[in-house]
Amino acid sequence: MKKMDKKDTIIYEAHGNIYLNITNRCTAECVFCIKRYSDGVYGYNLRLSKEPSLSVIINELSQADLSKYKEAVFTGMGEPLLRLDDVLKITRWLTDRGVPTRLDTIGHARILYPGRNVAKELAEAGMKVVSVSLNAQDENTYNNLCGPKLRDAYKKMLDFARDISKAGIELRFTVVELPVVDIEECRKLAKGYCADFKVRGYSGPV
Ligand code: SF4
Repeated sequence: MKKMDKKDTIIYEAHGNIYLNITNRCTAECVFCIKRYSDGVYGYNLRLSKEPSLSVIINELSQADLSKYKEAVFTGMGEPLLRLDDVLKITRWLTDRGVPTRLDTIGHARILYPGRNVAKELAEAGMKVVSVSLNAQDENTYNNLCGPKLRDAYKKMLDFARDISKAGIELRFTVVELPVVDIEECRKLAKGYCADFKVRGYSGPV
C-alpha cells in the first residue's frame, strides 16, 4: 500500500478510509473521468496491469490493520459492479470483521444483471452505503457527460437507486461540479429519492 510501490495499487488509504481498486473497466466514458488526465488519486497510481483475483484482494486486505479505518470503499478507477460476485464476497468478508462498507457506482447494475436483484444481494452481504453517480439532471445531459455504453442508462440508474433504498441501504447521489450540471436540480432530485447529496470538485482540464 506504499505510494512508491511498483506493483498495482489494489487497496489504498485516504481520509481515514480504505479504498479498493478492483477493476479499470467501466460501463461509461465520462468526460470528467480521472483516467483522461491522471494515473490516479492521492499519489496512488490506480492503473492496473491486470485485474487482481479475489484471493489477491483478500490477501491484501488481510495484511491491513482494518481497525484503523472508518469504512472500506469500493471505488478506484473503474466500475466495481462489473465484478459483482467478488464485490459481494469481499463485502461479506469485511462485514464479518466489523468493517462498514460503501460502494461507489455508476449504477448500471439493472442493465448488467437483469435477472438479479443486485440491491438486495448487496444488502444481504452487509453493504452499508451505496453512492450512485447521478451526474446530471436529465438524460440528455447525462448521455453527453457520461457516454454510457448501455442503453437507457440514466433511467435504469435511477431505478437502481430506488432499489438501493428499498433494500434498506443508505443511498447517496453524487455530481461533479461542471457548468452543464444543474446542481440545484440534482439536489432536488436527490431529495425526491431521500438520498444524501454530494458535489465533487473537478480538477481536470477544461
Ligand atoms: S463511471 Fe467513474 S470510472 Fe467510469 S468513466 Fe465515469 S468517472 Fe470514469
